[in-house]
Amino acid sequence: MKDVSTQTVLQEASARAIAYLQSVRERPIAASSAAVRRLDELNHPLPPQGLDAVEVLRRLDEIGSPATVATAGGRYFGLVIGGALPATVAANWLATAWDQNACFRWTSPIAATLEDVSLQWLGELFGLPQDIGGAFVSGASMATFSALAAARHALLARQGWDVEAKGLYGAPEIRVVVSDEVHVTVLKALSLLGLGRDRVLRVPTDGRGRLRAECLPVLDERTIVCIQAGNVNTGDFDPAAEVCRLATAAGAWVHVDGAFGLWALANRDFDTLTNGLTEADSWATDGHKWLNVPYDNGVVLVRHAAHLKAAMSASAAYLAEGIETERHPSHYTPESSRRARGVEIWAALLHLGSDGIADLVARFCRFARLFAEGLSRHGYEVLNDVVLNQVLVSFGSAEATRAVIDALQAEGVCWCGGTEWQGRPAMRISVANWATTEADVELSMQAIVRAASAGTA
Ligand SMILES: *Cc1c(COP(=O)(O)O)cnc(C)c1O
Repeated sequence: MKDVSTQTVLQEASARAIAYLQSVRERPIAASSAAVRRLDELNHPLPPQGLDAVEVLRRLDEIGSPATVATAGGRYFGLVIGGALPATVAANWLATAWDQNACFRWTSPIAATLEDVSLQWLGELFGLPQDIGGAFVSGASMATFSALAAARHALLARQGWDVEAKGLYGAPEIRVVVSDEVHVTVLKALSLLGLGRDRVLRVPTDGRGRLRAECLPVLDERTIVCIQAGNVNTGDFDPAAEVCRLATAAGAWVHVDGAFGLWALANRDFDTLTNGLTEADSWATDGHKWLNVPYDNGVVLVRHAAHLKAAMSASAAYLAEGIETERHPSHYTPESSRRARGVEIWAALLHLGSDGIADLVARFCRFARLFAEGLSRHGYEVLNDVVLNQVLVSFGSAEATRAVIDALQAEGVCWCGGTEWQGRPAMRISVANWATTEADVELSMQAIVRAASAGTA
């Protein structure tokens, strides 16, 4: 193996990454079939003799870059996929060079400090209590898992049951209430926690996908209620104020799945939607969606830090260390060794500032309205009230709608996926990328109209 200097290989990487980002907006969004076929070249036996680092990088770029999906450009509107702000990619590069283990404060003072600062800033931005607890995890799935572990701890501790030590066999029952529109990742978290994905009590939703508070069962101190801020289809919010009022009176725990929607708290124009969210007990959100930091990055926030710590500490001994004056990151996360995820959150928050975040939220939602208005004007049916960044469009029958989506994806100017909304197939447009411009919206709208008229021609 030839030795290449660190400087040479990192400069090479930076040049290749810059070239990738400079061309990503010009290429078709999905990887071409030729690019996907070429991935076969990676499929060879592990060589006994390694290659030098520049050659490894060359292969990665030449074979790998064309086989990416161009989500980093401005015209990918599938799922809810954010981009990555240059400030956060840069911070990520530097932090990768540091190679810090964010396990304890002493394994990385900088990683621990940036987590402290970011938690403080997020609390202020969202209007949450000063002494909130939290942790940096891989995404909203793990954030919800962690939050529900904290909830499980809190509710069972109140019943005199130590769930971390004794498990769930023989424990007092916990009831979990979700809405019919619950995100699958919440159910997955429940299954991982032994609370069971099918044991939930489902509450009906209205035509906008919002939990109907009047259909809630009588709540008590053994109940967890999961609500959402940002439905993946409609973008709408459950009635948090009403749910939290009932739950607080009953001693129940309210968890908010706010993977992308929680960020609406950063902009006062969305107060009617977000009303009551801050009264919950725990919140899950993503950094890699609306905050536009690189994958993978999510945040769990818990009103009383002690519940999260009790659920996540590796042993009772860690807990006994107890009267901890400084926060050790791994006392709040499922993982022990972990990369310093707080770095990119900190960089994004500092780079945007609270006004910049409010503007980003407003921009995503304005672009979604532009899509909805434009497509309605062309005679296509928008199925949802566009209250946030998600737009559902129908092109008639299921087959017609599927054909438009296929034609659009094949052309490659922009990318939207399919979904089903209350029994109706639809195309879903999700605006979540800082790199999307008004010109991108215009180009994409033309592409959608082209794909739709081709089907009817
Ligand atoms: C994306 C999303 C999730 C899951 O988040 P991951 O980051 O993929 O783990 C959960 N809930 C909602 C509403 C989402 O949009």
